[in-house]
Amino acid sequence: MSKRLPLAEYRNGILSGNRAILSRAITLVESSLDSDADLASQLVQEILPKTGNSIRIGITGVPGVGKSTFIESFGKLLVDKGHQVAVLAVDPSSQKTKGSILGDKTRMDQLAADKRAFIRPSPTGTTLGGVSSKTREAMLLCEAAGFDVILIETVGVGQSETAVKGMVDFFLLLMLAGAGDELQGIKKGIMEMADGLFINKAEGKNLLEAKKAKANYSNALHLFPLGENSWSPKVLLGSSLDGLGLEEVWKMISEFESITLERGFWQKNRENQRVNWLNECVQDLLGKAFIADKAVHKLMEDSEIQIKSGELSPIILAKRLTQLFLKSSTHQS
Ligand code: GDP
Repeated sequence: MSKRLPLAEYRNGILSGNRAILSRAITLVESSLDSDADLASQLVQEILPKTGNSIRIGITGVPGVGKSTFIESFGKLLVDKGHQVAVLAVDPSSQKTKGSILGDKTRMDQLAADKRAFIRPSPTGTTLGGVSSKTREAMLLCEAAGFDVILIETVGVGQSETAVKGMVDFFLLLMLAGAGDELQGIKKGIMEMADGLFINKAEGKNLLEAKKAKANYSNALHLFPLGENSWSPKVLLGSSLDGLGLEEVWKMISEFESITLERGFWQKNRENQRVNWLNECVQDLLGKAFIADKAVHKLMEDSEIQIKSGELSPIILAKRLTQLFLKSSTHQS
């Protein structure tokens, strides 16, 4: 483990756009060591006033759809327009191998070599809470370092999307033509979350199929009720490999931004997201304290057999455990 820096060094390094320090700061906020928790939370508090000035875009789609190719081309387009682009790839660390899926692959190497971009695969560990809080903190650090477009990639097909949806302004779903939704592992819920769909690999002999798919998805999306922001999700097509259709994606996102800003939804969404962040933190801290409580632990152990055999209702035990926890934490305080 590399040595931790003093708080001021992290803060000043980040605010001056120092990539190496930004990377080390992300490692700090991602740390699960208790000894890092205070420094990490102080750092987030210090840089908080310098955050929020970016467009936060979530990008998802099943493995193989072309997310990293898309991000490579789209990121390049954006840096050429003068943007500073940070990519956070939510990487579900494989529990089996304890390895990192993205870390093993050379991905987005052109964008990674570009000084105007910053790419960071975030190992998420095993908990959903891990995805959400650490990625959000990494995103805030990137904003404080001056990045004005944040792309958050998820490779899962479920829970991690919900977490990422809860921290971005715009959610883009990449799809392929010619494969049914089932085949693509895309659940209806994820379609419903999307603000835009991009049908990738729409070139050559795929183009006709892609156009049909575009019409089908547009129809399908119209069946969903409009969200609170009254934005009706758009379906676009293109080729990440050939750089086709990406300009339109940026146009769509910019249009979304101006419309929702004007209607006040952009701000409202961010406010709600901050409140949800608080709730997540409270749940996380309470959960940890609960598990660490000795009396709770003992009763859980003692009741394990009765729970497994179905003799004791989990509802009753949960009540007992909670009462025990509340009692022992009032004693401690
Ligand atoms: P990911 O798993 O979603 O990140 O997908 P990748 O970006 O790794 O792409 C998977 C494969 O699809 C790679 O072989 C890419 O070269 C290919 N690919 C990605 N985008 C396109 C595209 O627009 N057209 C074509 N023909 N192939 C593509």
